[in-house]
Amino acid sequence: MASELGDLSGRVALITGAGSGLGRATAILLAQRGARIISVDLMFDSAAATLKLLVGDGHGAWCADVARQKSVDEVVEVALEKFGRIDVLINSAGIAEGMGATLDRDLSHWQRIIDVNLTGSFLMCQAVARSMRDSGGGVILNLSSIAGVIGLPRRTAYSASKGAVSMMTKVLAAEWAPYRIRVNAVAPGYIHTPLTEKLMDEGRLDMDAIMRRSPTGEMGTAGDVAEALAFLASDQARFITGVVLPVDGAYTVYGAPEDAYPGVLGHDRG
Ligand code: NAD
Repeated sequence: MASELGDLSGRVALITGAGSGLGRATAILLAQRGARIISVDLMFDSAAATLKLLVGDGHGAWCADVARQKSVDEVVEVALEKFGRIDVLINSAGIAEGMGATLDRDLSHWQRIIDVNLTGSFLMCQAVARSMRDSGGGVILNLSSIAGVIGLPRRTAYSASKGAVSMMTKVLAAEWAPYRIRVNAVAPGYIHTPLTEKLMDEGRLDMDAIMRRSPTGEMGTAGDVAEALAFLASDQARFITGVVLPVDGAYTVYGAPEDAYPGVLGHDRG
């Protein structure tokens, strides 16, 4: 029998990248819905700071580099020792390059983005799915992006990593459905987080241009993405697997030549 709407009581959720942005917002929301959170981040202080924002008891924080297999195996082993099982895995650890001409990029730049965004998600999926298979199932949620759906010039490595995360999500969903492991992804549009704020501060993202290109005339919030992830993690989504859900305010479906939003932009509305 499915649980009450959105209820995650008793579930253990491991969230990578939980020290900031979408990972942190999702940790906060899932804890409100009753889950115990394993907050994992490259920066231990950030992972631990997230714990202070969570309601309820029994959460934990660890540092790990998802791009390194040894680090991933260690954190999953410790989490299983302390919590007994992992019901939900959310792979929110990720890095974004600023825009840069592909012809000027070197291999190390490409490699680091692929290592963290794609290989990191793969390693986490593999390590956690072994325990989910043995414990009778679970939910895995990956962070793709609009960059994995449409072609954004000068964001080659990031876009390739996110397109691959979407495809990996579908393959794993098809392969692991018999184990009762659901695997889905969300593909956020431009969302206000430290990641996009840094790019805006550096002049690499133009907020006005983004909002004009967005049919809703606004950027999304971390809460918008967290709500989608919380739904996909819940029993109400029990028959949904292999999906890449856009959370982008119609950004990727908009195809007309003129600005998508002709009104007064959000930050000018007063
Ligand atoms: P963020 O920079 O605010 O948070 C990312 C977190 O991941 C940070 O705390 C960072 O320390 C951690 N991290 C980075 N490398 C790591 C590693 N190797 N191992 C463990 N942790 C690591 O970013 P965000 O905006 O919250 O983005 C989260 C995810 O959502 C990313 O995968 C990003 O690509 C994706 N995404 C974000 C947006 C957006 O507009 N913010 C849009 C689409 C997709």
